[in-house]
Amino acid sequence: MKSGRWLVHLVCLFVCATAITAAVSVSDGASAVREKIRVFSSDRKGYVMSEKVVKSDAEWRKLLTPEQFHILRQKGTELAFSGVYSNHHEHGIYRCAGCELELFRSEDKYESGTGWPSFTAPIAPENVHSTADNSLFMRRTEVVCPRCGGHLGHVFNDGPKPTGQRYCMNSAALTFVAVKKQ
Ligand code: FE
Repeated sequence: MKSGRWLVHLVCLFVCATAITAAVSVSDGASAVREKIRVFSSDRKGYVMSEKVVKSDAEWRKLLTPEQFHILRQKGTELAFSGVYSNHHEHGIYRCAGCELELFRSEDKYESGTGWPSFTAPIAPENVHSTADNSLFMRRTEVVCPRCGGHLGHVFNDGPKPTGQRYCMNSAALTFVAVKKQ
């Protein structure tokens, strides 16, 4: 009688384990389908659907410089006046250094005097994502790339008119691509 009960338990265990394995493989299959987001593309002169970029830390380390990895993936901040774009005035577009999503236009860059590249607005509201950051005993709004989740900098409400916003970015989080003036 006892051995019969054990057999029932054993069969139950096997059935449960099989069910869990199947569920995990189904969810893995689902996560392989990347989420799409709607972003503005200056190349396409309008909005497009774009797949999110998801990578492991090991994969990011292969693609980024140590400084880019520290800022984009570990929420680091470069020293003021140290970045290549703090005093940069060419005409073009600043893209995410992680996934190349277009973020800011040179027309919206201004001299904030802070030592970090500063913009009054993103290329489109959809191309940056803002989130509350209460670290370091401060209440700030963090700006992240909506496609790869990379940390870009912070946004403050002390910018010039008309937006009144100051997007304070890290040069290492950006890649500049020159565009000919038309
Ligand atoms: Fe990105």
